[in-house]
Amino acid sequence: MEDKIKCLILGSGPAGYTAAIYAARADLKPVVYQGLQPGGQLTITTDVENYPGFAEGINGPEMMEIFKKQSERFGADIRWGIATKVNLQKRPFEVTIDNEKTVHAETLIIATGASAKWLGMESEKKFNGFGVSACATCDGFFYKGQDVAVVGGGDTACEEASYLSKLCKKVYLVHRRDELRASKAMQNRVLKTKNIEVLWSHVPKEIIGDKAVNGFILENLKDNKEVKIDVQGVFIAIGHKPNSDIFKNQLEMDKSGYITTKPGTTRTNIDGVFAAGDVQDNVYRQAVTAAGTGCMAAIEAERFLASQEE
Ligand code: NDP
Repeated sequence: MEDKIKCLILGSGPAGYTAAIYAARADLKPVVYQGLQPGGQLTITTDVENYPGFAEGINGPEMMEIFKKQSERFGADIRWGIATKVNLQKRPFEVTIDNEKTVHAETLIIATGASAKWLGMESEKKFNGFGVSACATCDGFFYKGQDVAVVGGGDTACEEASYLSKLCKKVYLVHRRDELRASKAMQNRVLKTKNIEVLWSHVPKEIIGDKAVNGFILENLKDNKEVKIDVQGVFIAIGHKPNSDIFKNQLEMDKSGYITTKPGTTRTNIDGVFAAGDVQDNVYRQAVTAAGTGCMAAIEAERFLASQEE
């Protein structure tokens, strides 16, 4: 059996790798299990232009490769594998990998991220990265001066529509009901913006295009008629799901499953367990904020271990 791991990190997005860099440099000999989507959500975007340090922008998968290499340079042990079960009731914590192997960890950093929810249409998959996106802050810039659609009626959709309205000629907000779910403040902002048009009671049918998107077919639920809007971009904003299922009933979380951390820290309700990145953040959800909390988690893990030795 493998010896106790001092610092086990689950997830390999900006939070996981940044935690690994800091933990490795602090000699915590971190082990990282990469999870279901090695490199995290940035591996499904094209160019990342808002991460400081890359003046010309960088391709998402390439950036995550650099994160990985940087953590390996300091000795982080990066492994394939998905955590399928955890027991956080006693220390060392027990984490089952791929349903077969159990590892023991003195500290655990959860950086399992969140996954954007998708509509599930074939055309959505086909044009992912070529007109279809789930992140306006990441990809909005590419649609400067063009027409786009945002699908959803919650705070995320309204926020994305607002953001895009400053860059794009016209933004259609496609919502399946005749009332928005978003907070009143967000609703007001959207409804007051001249170049946002809300298409109430419309549902997506098909995204169309050649190499990239050039149209979006919707159904108006009021009369069941099909409508085609000419857009170059379609942003899906129907919510995110934090990847926290395996921690249910052990860690405190909000009703959507985001792990609760003590304000200003990455500490969870269990001593020695830290959460960083999108799995605990339903507000900012940026690579740079995820990296920041990854750094915090590693520093907190180091201090926690030091306090145990005193
Ligand atoms: P929500 O779950 O609040 O909203 C999802 C929206 O997508 C709903 O309007 C829903 O429609 C629609 N939707 C869901 N599935 C489909 C589908 N298959 N087809 C069409 N439409 C669909 O998610 P959000 O990401 O907007 O927000 C999540 C949480 O994060 C909320 O608590 C929100 O307040 C918070 N948040 C806060 C922000 C802030 O404070 N700045 C910014 C962003 C999010 P319907 O309404 O009919 O169910």
